[in-house]
Amino acid sequence: MSQNDSLFARAQRSTPGGVNSPVRAFRSVGGTPRFITRAEGPYFWDADGKRYIDYIGSWGPAIVGHAHPEVIKAVQAAAANGLSFGAPTEGEILMAEEICKLVPSIEMVRLVSSGTEAAMSALRLARGVTGRDMVIKFEGCYHGHADSMLVKAGSGLLTFGNPTSAGVPADFAKHTMVLDYNDCAQLEETFSNMGDRIAAVIVEPVAGNMNLLRATSEFLQTMRRLCTQHGAVLMFDEVMSGFRVALGGAQSLYGIQPDMTVLGKVIGGGLPVAAFGGRADMMKHLAPLGPVYQAGTLSGNPVAVAAGMSTLKIIQQPSFYEKLGTQTRKLMEGMAMAAREVGVAFSADSVGGMFGIYFSEHVPENYAQIMAGNKERFNQFFHAMLDAGVYLAPSAFEAGFVSAMHSDAVIDETLAAARGSFAKLTA
Ligand SMILES: *Cc1c(COP(=O)(O)O)cnc(C)c1O
Repeated sequence: MSQNDSLFARAQRSTPGGVNSPVRAFRSVGGTPRFITRAEGPYFWDADGKRYIDYIGSWGPAIVGHAHPEVIKAVQAAAANGLSFGAPTEGEILMAEEICKLVPSIEMVRLVSSGTEAAMSALRLARGVTGRDMVIKFEGCYHGHADSMLVKAGSGLLTFGNPTSAGVPADFAKHTMVLDYNDCAQLEETFSNMGDRIAAVIVEPVAGNMNLLRATSEFLQTMRRLCTQHGAVLMFDEVMSGFRVALGGAQSLYGIQPDMTVLGKVIGGGLPVAAFGGRADMMKHLAPLGPVYQAGTLSGNPVAVAAGMSTLKIIQQPSFYEKLGTQTRKLMEGMAMAAREVGVAFSADSVGGMFGIYFSEHVPENYAQIMAGNKERFNQFFHAMLDAGVYLAPSAFEAGFVSAMHSDAVIDETLAAARGSFAKLTA
């Protein structure tokens, strides 16, 4: 029995499903999850000592590569001064100033500990600011696991949402409306029917939780116009896309200013930091200034902030995003070519350091097209790559992530594995 097998058997006795977050359990692709013992640069190693080229990067945070010496040094220095105080520190000011500088639509920001918490708090704030209950989200977008976001579309257009999880009261779900991503007409219709009841529209401006899906510029512009017209809060959930698709996030690529932005993943550099921020007039509704309550024992934790700040410094080095984008494109073009050589229906796309691979002839433009991809093919490919020492996201419906440490040699090694893995699909 491998170490991974025995650890997984043991883990399942003390933890539901053996994991602390469901996608880690390999349910979608089958097989035994790999238990990781250490990571460095573009690699991690499992309990059997096998090395993998890592393309999940902790689901986004590891943008500068694992165990970057500067980040580790900053964490060690902060830890030596004490782990948590429950009183403010200068580090939190520096972090807030840095975020406001890098994302100009954010005039004020509050730090929290997870993306879930950030999105949940930002939605409460939007409801508090507008005095309205209804929020709009889009099918396939993920905004963490707060009650009001675990909702799918009801039957038929313009019906209210249904819970996607047991334990979410229908009475909560009815305040969330779920629409189709990239469908401008539906958005227009919804606003014309109930614009004066909508507190917020929350969207991943480049979606990464149903595999990679780009918003059309028209879709985001329509949203911006309708929110302004009807007094609703436009909220970009950039927990994944922030500091990932570009230094200024997806909003800098599209040239659209949301009223509020949700951040996480990269800003913690691998430790738990997330944030929400935006227009100062809105943020001033938060406690202790205003009536919208929000708090956290470990919010702005000094060790986590040290990891985040050192990561934010590294990503501002000259041409960091040019190189990251180039390496990611090289990987995607190489994979598409390898698939073509053996006649596998396959397409690929990337934005900055984030990518999507699809077992379909064309890059999907909406949720339905993503769902129509060949999931069985993906699962076979995933396992062939894993055997060859390449760790892709263990689900056909997740994006992939490249770090600054994925050098040409690492990409070439990945492409060699991909050629072998595609060939196995047709054998
Ligand atoms: C990961 C993610 C979240 C949730 O963040 P957690 O830190 O896992 O709670 C929210 N929104 C988006 C877009 C994400 O990718």
